[in-house]
Amino acid sequence: MVTTSTHILVVEDEPIIADAVADRLRSEGFEATIASDGLVAVEQCMTLRPDLVILDLNLPGIDGLEVCRRIQATRRIPVVMVTARDDETDMLVGLGVGADDYLTKPFSPRELVARVKAVLRRAEANAGASLDRGSLTIDPAGRIVCRDGEEVHLTPTEFDLIRVLAEAGNAVLSREQMLAMVWGYRDGSGARTVDSHVRSVRRKLGDDTIRTVHGVGYAFGDPT
Ligand code: CA
Repeated sequence: MVTTSTHILVVEDEPIIADAVADRLRSEGFEATIASDGLVAVEQCMTLRPDLVILDLNLPGIDGLEVCRRIQATRRIPVVMVTARDDETDMLVGLGVGADDYLTKPFSPRELVARVKAVLRRAEANAGASLDRGSLTIDPAGRIVCRDGEEVHLTPTEFDLIRVLAEAGNAVLSREQMLAMVWGYRDGSGARTVDSHVRSVRRKLGDDTIRTVHGVGYAFGDPT
């Protein structure tokens, strides 16, 4: 069963295709949002935090390849890449771009939905996996964080903050990105909120868990 909260971002610049795909997804019980260019898609990934992205390779502005790189830079998000030709798919697979599945146009909406469901099932199977980062273990399902095997009590916001940084791997997140990912809004005026929560997470988990990258933001510290 598809839950109503499963949100899919459809990145497609051809309105007829975008509407057909979105309509089909909605009729299957998904929530669907359309982005008609690459930059909008990257922004919407940050603010809407969709569960999966259907991504057309050939887009105006930045192409699907670049969109895929940018949205995967800060968070592992399932992607179904849509190409115009089979050789494009071969090229993408060769590059190892990180899409979970590929579909070549023309495709039937039914086929697409089947692929989407399969990718979501695989993603769900991996979602509960805990993140082991040096001396820190983060369990997203249980919302538990341990340092050197000892559970450390964090507030829900502190937990989300260390989780998004750990999920981002080595990527540096700006305060604005962290506001969007943890607090769910894009208001630059909240930057001090980020700083104060970073301080409290460091106090509880150790200074080495979050790195300050001056002029940019914060990154996970990979505590040993
Ligand atoms: Ca296109």
